[in-house]
Amino acid sequence: MEARRENRELTDIELTENALAVLRKRYLKKNDRGEPVERPVDMFRRVAANIAEAELKFKPGEEGRALYEEYRGRFLRMMLERRFMPNSPTLMNAGRELQQLSACFVLPVEDSIDGIYDTLKHQAIIHKSGGGTGFAFSRLRPKNDIVRSTMGVSSGPVSFMAIYDASTDKIKQGGTRRGANMGILRVDHPDIEEFITCKNDNDQITNFNISVAVTDAFMEAVERDGEFELVNPRNGEVTKRVGARELFKKIAYGAWLNGEPGVVFIDRINADNPTPQFPIESTNPCSEAHLPPYDSCNLGSINLALFYDEERGDVDWDELRQTVRTAVRFLDNVIEQNNYPLPQIEEMSKGNRRIGLGVMGFADLLIKMGIPYDSEEGLAFAERVMRFIDEEAWEASRGLAAERGVFGHYEGSRHEARGDRVRNATVTTIAPTGTISLIAGCSGGIEPLYAVAFMRRQADMEMPDVNPEFVRVARERGFYSEELMKKVAEQGSVRGLEEVPEDVQRVWVTSHDISPEWHVRMQAAFQKHTSMGISKTINLPNEATVEDVERAYRLAYSLGCKGIAVYRDGSREEQVLSTGKTA
Ligand code: ADP
Repeated sequence: MEARRENRELTDIELTENALAVLRKRYLKKNDRGEPVERPVDMFRRVAANIAEAELKFKPGEEGRALYEEYRGRFLRMMLERRFMPNSPTLMNAGRELQQLSACFVLPVEDSIDGIYDTLKHQAIIHKSGGGTGFAFSRLRPKNDIVRSTMGVSSGPVSFMAIYDASTDKIKQGGTRRGANMGILRVDHPDIEEFITCKNDNDQITNFNISVAVTDAFMEAVERDGEFELVNPRNGEVTKRVGARELFKKIAYGAWLNGEPGVVFIDRINADNPTPQFPIESTNPCSEAHLPPYDSCNLGSINLALFYDEERGDVDWDELRQTVRTAVRFLDNVIEQNNYPLPQIEEMSKGNRRIGLGVMGFADLLIKMGIPYDSEEGLAFAERVMRFIDEEAWEASRGLAAERGVFGHYEGSRHEARGDRVRNATVTTIAPTGTISLIAGCSGGIEPLYAVAFMRRQADMEMPDVNPEFVRVARERGFYSEELMKKVAEQGSVRGLEEVPEDVQRVWVTSHDISPEWHVRMQAAFQKHTSMGISKTINLPNEATVEDVERAYRLAYSLGCKGIAVYRDGSREEQVLSTGKTA
């Protein structure tokens, strides 16, 4: 297998129409007239060469030159084969003037006008360069609390978040991305209720995802139906006692209404923080990266769909090992090549050297393996794959430590406590892969398929767009017909279609066919072997209740997840309609 691939010269990449369209619109280098001046293959060459350049920095002279040549080739191959994709900013910016390669940043928000507005400026600088930002507003004094220097009162965390939101609107991100933010408030902050409801109306704070940082003490109070104290962060005074269950219900109600807020289990995140000398208070916009203030993370994802070995009916583990190792080296090189938007970020990022290798195409791989997503076998397979990737990634990081040294903040880290000499504080994270899965042509992250087929308007005609693998299976198994494909496209799912054999129905499940419990259990299975977090949506049917949301949150907590984000089918559209009516 290896030999066959070595002999084939890779000069091009197979891309879908959609992938080509996205690349042309936002990723390829353009001239002054806005026309692309590179082809997709040139983009991957540009990225591979730029990221391999780090080899020259680590090892000067002949040896470095040889490593550069070798890794430039390996990096290019794994991208052209669509086995690995770095996060969007790396594809867009590597080898170009901007050279900003990270997807995620977290900034501190200090309880002072200077602090708040310094960070506002830093947010703008990061957005301009194509990165997403996360903030915890938990250290800000509550609304109506005193401001000594002016004898006035504070306007509180939510009002400052609204300013960050308004500023985001004004910054066009290097012409490529619109800003994305995460806003976090601790559950024991006096303004928590205002925070929970601040996005009930979908028209507000639209550039932020919001999450409540839930503590273990809060979850315990919910369990025993106890009281819970809200505390002013400025002076530690208890401002109010609330029923924990009541507050829990309010959080769940917001999520039921329109998916906001999500929840992050902040104590658990800190219990696993590899660099406890830098406490974590926030995450990036899609909440998979748990970062201390001023840290950043560069992500990259392996397309699992391509690691199925048909002859053996199993994963090609050797090939996967090779790709994981090359990908870890790629991401460690990114840290060196990156042009950081602020000196504080450079220092923290190089000190921790966090990288986030994740996966995409997991649902595609399950289908090839004939394993249903919502099954015990599916969970066991998920754990097996992720454990393998995580272990191999750590091995690669140990190898890099021997070659290049341990990360700067190793002293005082949990790795040092274990005597584990690694190059990176974290190695694995599961990103949403919103765009890169589209470029690679696979299912997103660890999500199930969204639909087996859907209706697409093309040249004024409604045409079914069917998953090509499903078409292949339908032909092979002899149940293909155009009417059937249309039917599948209309309902999205193959559940209950009698023309489709039972075993095919079982394996071709979509996110709406899967119960919230299975979604949560799958997230938990991946979390067991992931150094940072997981981006995953827990889908609920439209008729789900607030209690169903509460149950999903409790399950996520009890299974060791680091957070949870639910989405009730149709809830955002309804919301848009209802605000439309009142307007
Ligand atoms: P991609 O597939 O484009 O590489 P993902 O969908 O995996 O990106 O998102 C990864 C992270 O990138 C997100 O968690 C967020 O931090 C950041 N991100 C995503 N979209 C945006 C955006 N429009 N603007 C800024 N940052 C973004």
